[in-house]
Formats: sequence, structure tokens, C-alpha cells
Amino acid sequence: MSVIVLVEHNQGVFKKKSFEAVQYASKIADSIGGTVTAVAIGSVSTEEMETLGQYGAKKVLHTSDVRLDNFCSRAYTKVLAAAAGKENAKVIITLNDNTGKAVAPRIAARLKAGMVAGAVSYPDLTNGFVVKRNVFSGKAIAHVNITSTIKVITLMPNTFAIQKGTGVADIELLDVALDDLDFAVQVKEINKTVGAVPLSEAELVVSGGRGMKGPENWYVLEDLAKELGAATACSRPVADSHWRPHNEHVGQTGGTIRPNLYIAVGISGAIQHLAGVNGSKTIVVINKDPEAPFFKAADYGVLGDAMEIIPQLTAAVKKYKASH
Ligand SMILES: Cc1cc2nc3c(=O)[nH]c(=O)nc-3n(C[C@H](O)[C@H](O)[C@H](O)COP(=O)(O)OP(=O)(O)OC[C@H]3O[C@@H](n4cnc5c(N)ncnc54)[C@H](O)[C@@H]3O)c2cc1C
Repeated sequence: MSVIVLVEHNQGVFKKKSFEAVQYASKIADSIGGTVTAVAIGSVSTEEMETLGQYGAKKVLHTSDVRLDNFCSRAYTKVLAAAAGKENAKVIITLNDNTGKAVAPRIAARLKAGMVAGAVSYPDLTNGFVVKRNVFSGKAIAHVNITSTIKVITLMPNTFAIQKGTGVADIELLDVALDDLDFAVQVKEINKTVGAVPLSEAELVVSGGRGMKGPENWYVLEDLAKELGAATACSRPVADSHWRPHNEHVGQTGGTIRPNLYIAVGISGAIQHLAGVNGSKTIVVINKDPEAPFFKAADYGVLGDAMEIIPQLTAAVKKYKASH
């Protein structure tokens, strides 16, 4: 019995969240008595694919076709379905990110599989195959029992800490006949933020809201983020006002993140914002209004003006780094 997992890479380098997905698949394989096969699509080196063994993949099926270097949901689904058929997969894992959200429902429909989107737990096998996911903007947790023979799970990134082991995965080519129809919808252009920590994978995030007053003040958050090695995020009105790019917007209608540390500056803490960040391990709220709802969700709260507090925090981080 096999568990297959779709792994994602950025120009041939696997994303950290893919290691997490492989490790997640590996634990599931252990509990159902199977092995993990990772599915790598597009141009990626043998050495890079072998590293997936360090997270529990026994084998990597690789489909290489230059047309697959840009994401295409239809073609990716076809490759994943071919891999699932070849391995007689009973569990199929993707990440709950843009790629996974596009591919997983398609594969579930194709294979008549039940699916849980945004899993935050390992399956509990004591009474069925029950996976937890957050619902109602993170206000409740649903326990979903997948009863179909084949099960599809999209894993919420940053849910589990990854631990590197020593294995080396075997690599096998997976030849899949892809025709023009599979590439009928094409990604024409990809604009990537260069140099910054990718928000979806960041362990530390510094986020700003309307309380920052305007884009001209963002340098204080960027300075802090730089010192911490953190990614930057923002509330929706900030992105809507074009103070920050939309890829930084988190919440119900933006990205969902689960960093180890989320520093929310000048953000009121509306439920729609919390929906995207309340899985963060530690939340620090900096706000000048003691009644701001975000304080209720905070592990640590600092009451005061962001423009006074953040430079002091940055200076303290600098000092700490210099003395360690
Ligand atoms: C359907 C729907 C979906 C939505 N989706 C999202 C979403 O995905 N993400 C999202 O973020 N929002 C979303 N919203 C909007 C959400 O309801 C809030 O309006 C929004 O989150 C508020 O943004 P904010 O906290 O930056 O601004 P505000 O609510 O204006 O809060 C600003 C905060 O800054 C504080 N402040 C002001 N000055 C300072 C200072 N000098 N120093 C420190 N603190 C200061 C204030 O006390 C206040 O708490 C959605 C709304 C709807 C209806």
C-alpha cells in the first residue's frame, strides 16, 4: 500500500513545505503499513530528488517535460493520477497551497476519492480515518472521517516541524503522455518576490495593518523583519489601498499562515484577519488601543504607538544578535 505525495520545487530546489509534506506522508505510511512515493514534476536534479529520502520518501517518481516547468493544473493532475495508479496509492497528499488547492480536488474527482482540505493533524485510525481541519475561520475544528478507498489530503503548511533523517530516495522516471489539451490553460507570467523570505513558508512574520498610517512608514516593519529574518505580511485594507502587494495579505480572503511567531502591528484583529493567522504558534500584538480585539488572541501584547515601539524592538534584536 502506498502513500503518494506531490512535492513542489522552485527552479529545481524543493520548498521546505514539501519536506514537511513528505514527512507527513511518511508518518501516515508508517501507521497504515505502507511506503511513501513522492511525485516530482518538471526540471529537478537527481541529487535534489534523492534528498526526499531524508524525510521518509522511499521512491520518487519523476516526470520531466519542459512544459511542466510552469504549473498547469490539468497536466499536473494527469501526472499525479498516473503515479497514483502505478503505485496503487491509497492516500494522496498535497500541500494546501495554490498548487495543492488546484490539483487535489481534481484528483479526488478523478479517483472518486474523499478529500480533506487543510488538514492540521495526522489521521486518527482508531475509528475510521479521521483528519482534523479548521473551519468557521478557525473558530472550530472539524473531525472529518474519509470513508472512500482512496483518500486525498491537503496539508496546511507549517503545521509540523520537520526533522531531517538520513535516507536516500530511489528515483524512477514516470512517463506520462501529455497532449496539447493538458496545457490548454497556461501560466503566461510568474512574478516572484526576490530575496524576501516566502510568506507561506516563513517561521517568523512581521505584519502591519492600517495603524501603520501609510506605506511611507513600512520601513520600520521591514527593518525589524530584516533583523529577525522574517517575512512581511499585512491586513486586507493595507493591500486594498496598495500600500503593500496583495500576496502579503493574510486572512479569510488572503493567505493562511502558521508561523512560529506572528507580530501584528497596528492591526485591530478582525475575525476575517484572524482566520488567516490564528494557527500561528505565538502571536505578539502591538496596538495603541487597549480594547483592540487582537489582544484577546495574543500570547503577548504591547500597548503603545507602533512608530515608537518597533524601532526599539529592532534595536533590541540587533543588540541581542551582536552579543550572541
Ligand atoms: C468578507 C470579508 C473578508 C475579509 N477578509 C479579510 C482578510 O482576509 N484579511 C484582513 O486582514 N481583513 C479582512 N477583512 C477586513 C476585516 O474585517 C477588517 O476590516 C480588517 O482586517 C481591518 O484591518 P486593520 O486591522 O489593518 O485596520 P483597522 O481595523 O483600521 O485597525 C487598525 C488598528 O491599528 C491600531 N492603531 C492605530 N494607530 C496605531 C499606532 N500608531 N500604533 C499602534 N496601533 C495603532 C488601531 O487601534 C486599530 O486597532 C474582510 C472583511 C470582509 C467583510
